[in-house]
Amino acid sequence: MKRYLGCMFFALMVLLCGCGRDVPGEGGDRGKEGPWQRVDTAMGTVIQQTVYGAQETAELFSEDVMEMLYQMEREELSWRLDTSQVYRINRSAGLEEGCALSEELAGLLEACQELSVRSEGAFDVTLGRLTSLWNIDQWSTEENMTQFQIPSGKELEAAVESCGSSKMKIVRNAESAGTEPDSGRARIWLPEGMRLDLGAVGKGLALSRISRLLEEREEMGGAVISLGGSVLTYGVKPDGSPWKVGIVDPADPSSHLGILTLEGQWCVSTSGDYERYVEADGVRYHHILDPATGYPAQSGVGGVTVLVKDGLLSDGLSTACFILGPEQGMELAEAYGAETLFVMQDGSIRMSEGMETYFSR
Ligand code: AMP
Ligand code: MG
Repeated sequence: MKRYLGCMFFALMVLLCGCGRDVPGEGGDRGKEGPWQRVDTAMGTVIQQTVYGAQETAELFSEDVMEMLYQMEREELSWRLDTSQVYRINRSAGLEEGCALSEELAGLLEACQELSVRSEGAFDVTLGRLTSLWNIDQWSTEENMTQFQIPSGKELEAAVESCGSSKMKIVRNAESAGTEPDSGRARIWLPEGMRLDLGAVGKGLALSRISRLLEEREEMGGAVISLGGSVLTYGVKPDGSPWKVGIVDPADPSSHLGILTLEGQWCVSTSGDYERYVEADGVRYHHILDPATGYPAQSGVGGVTVLVKDGLLSDGLSTACFILGPEQGMELAEAYGAETLFVMQDGSIRMSEGMETYFSR
C-alpha cells in the first residue's frame, strides 16, 4: 500500500504560502510600529502573528497570545492531555453523575450542538471515536504513517453509532456544583462510548479570544493572526491599507487562487481536503468526516472559506460547509450571517453574493 502524507506538506505551506493567511510581501519594515512577526506551533498547527504597535507592547502581546493558546490546549480542548476538560468529559462518558465543566466550555458545546442541528448532523463534535479510529491526529508524522490502516466497515459502524450531538446533555445551572477543577454550575453527560473532538472549532474559539485580548489592549494598532486554516484580522495598519488574506488553491496548495481584501476585525476559516490527508492506493483520505458514513466527506468540495466576525462560527461553519457542499452549505452560512467561497474539486468557484465584495482573483 502506497501512502502519502499530506499534513506535513501543509504545515510547511502555512509558513511559506499560507492557507487563507495574510499574503507575504505586504508590509516590510515600517519602523517603530512594526510589523512584528512571530511564528510558533500550538494546537497541532503553525501560529503566525503579524502585529502592529510599539515593539515592546507588540512582543508582550504575542507572548500572551501563545501563553493563552497553550493554556487552552492544556486546560480545555485537548483530548490527549489528562489536564484538560475535554479529556475529563470523555472519561466521564456513561457515568450517572456526568462531569462538571466551565461555563465557557458549556457555551461552546451548546453552540456546537446548535450547529449540528442546523447542519442536519453534518457537523458533529461528538465524533471523537471516528477521528480516533482513523487516527487523524497521528497523520502528522512520517513514522506513524507506516501504521495507516483503513478502518473496517464494522469498526466504522460502531463508531458512527457512538456519535450524535443530540445525545449529549448539558445543564447550565446544575443543582450539584461539582468538586472537580473548573467546575462551575455547568454539567455535561455523554452516553457511554461517546467521545468529543473539538478539532473543528478550537482554533476559531482561540481567534475570538485573541480578538478580545486585542480589544483590551488599546495601544495595539492592528494584527493578523493565523492559526493553521483560521485567520483573524484586527484594527488598522499604520498606513491605513487593508488586510489581504490569500485563498489557497486546493489543486496546488503552494499557490493562491485569489485574495480577500478586508478592513478591521474579521475571522476567516478554510477547511480543505489538502490540509491533512493520507493517500493509499491512489485514494485520498482526508480529515473531514461525514458522521453519517464514518468516511471522509465526499461533497465535491476541495476547499471552502467562511468569512464572518466570530471565530467559532467561521471555524465551525467551514467544516460544516465542506461536508454539506455549496448549495446547503451556503444556505446554512447565510442563516448565520456568514459569507462563503467554495472551490470545487473540478476547479470551479462558487461564492455567496456578499463574498464578491471582498474576493478578487
Ligand atoms: P477543520 O480543519 O476546521 O475543518 O476541522 C477538521 C477537524 O475537525 C478534523 O481534524 C477532526 O478533528 C474534526 N472533524 C472532522 N469531521 C468533523 C465533523 N463532521 N464535525 C465536526 N468535527 C469534525
Ligand atoms: Mg473548522
